[in-house]
Amino acid sequence: MDLAAIPLYDHHAHALFRESTWRRAPLEPYFGEANDPEQHRRFGRDTLSFRRGMRDLARFYACEPTVDALLVARARVDYADLARRMFAAARIGHWLIDDGLWTDELMSISECTALIPGVPVRRIVRLEVELARMIEQHDRASTLLAALADTLSNRASGIAAFKSIAAYRTGLDIGRPAATEVEDAFSAIRRSVVRGRPTRVASKPLIDAMLWAVLPVAAARGTPVQFHTGFGDPDLDLRLANPLHLRPLFESEALRGLRVVSLHCYPYVREAGYLASVYPGAYVDLGLTVPYTSVHAMRAALHEALHLAPVTKVLLSTDAQRTPETFWLAARWGRRVLGEVLDATIEDGDLSADEAAWAASRILFDNAAELYA
Ligand SMILES: [Zn+2]
Repeated sequence: MDLAAIPLYDHHAHALFRESTWRRAPLEPYFGEANDPEQHRRFGRDTLSFRRGMRDLARFYACEPTVDALLVARARVDYADLARRMFAAARIGHWLIDDGLWTDELMSISECTALIPGVPVRRIVRLEVELARMIEQHDRASTLLAALADTLSNRASGIAAFKSIAAYRTGLDIGRPAATEVEDAFSAIRRSVVRGRPTRVASKPLIDAMLWAVLPVAAARGTPVQFHTGFGDPDLDLRLANPLHLRPLFESEALRGLRVVSLHCYPYVREAGYLASVYPGAYVDLGLTVPYTSVHAMRAALHEALHLAPVTKVLLSTDAQRTPETFWLAARWGRRVLGEVLDATIEDGDLSADEAAWAASRILFDNAAELYA
């Protein structure tokens, strides 16, 4: 199947570097989740995603498929023009931006909107960052959490989704901490806050309590909540990033109606697919798994997501950031691998040709369009 004509509703992504940062940024970090400079220096060019990405980009820039040739070709381009051409080639139809990452280095949402005319942009609120921003204004965790819930319920109409990076900070085994434990944890953080400097909240009682305070807001407002699950940057303990830990959210009567999107998922794609097959509020997204893994793994992941999950609950996204090249690569491989996986479902008799065409539109665009409407 050729899916080139179907736009991608990119519901899991970030902003781009400003030009000066882009010009001096090295290539290796665009192809994996490592943040240790030694890993990039010694091994960054040895992954399948880097090697394949170099050849893909060389085709785009019409240069030799070597890193040196690519660096020369990139140095010659007009950055804004490159971004527009790559977004057009990637057929990005909507761009939802989590602006809680690398806030100093990436463009603002309004800069992104201006850079790529014609692509609607909306914001995703990163809950842990929003929480950290409000810490200085409160003396108690209880008033902080109430204020956060209030802010989010008032603003929920202007934003596309909430997102939690609990997996990166304290794990997805979200507990029910006692109020005293939360207040103690808050006091310790409050004492360490340096005025005017961003605080990084990595306290399990506080993050868990925050989630139980804001998830009811999301459920009541119909705002979807994205959770990073599976692999990601090495902040996370992969053992605690299994989406199966999220079961209490789906079982909670108080959170009835809450829609939760498991992001990344790899290597827990089957687990995320299982959740989507039994809980009405569970969805699966494979951004980052596509395109950071091998072609075989991308194909396997998409097929595994569809082992059990309804077609109407599986999504693709780019999880791209920093350079327009990551959007182009993710969209290119998302469509290609999805086409191959759906071809196989026709061959196997899982779907008819018409149903596979419907599934392609659902997974690339319609599922997200409905979820984030
Ligand atoms: Zn992500």
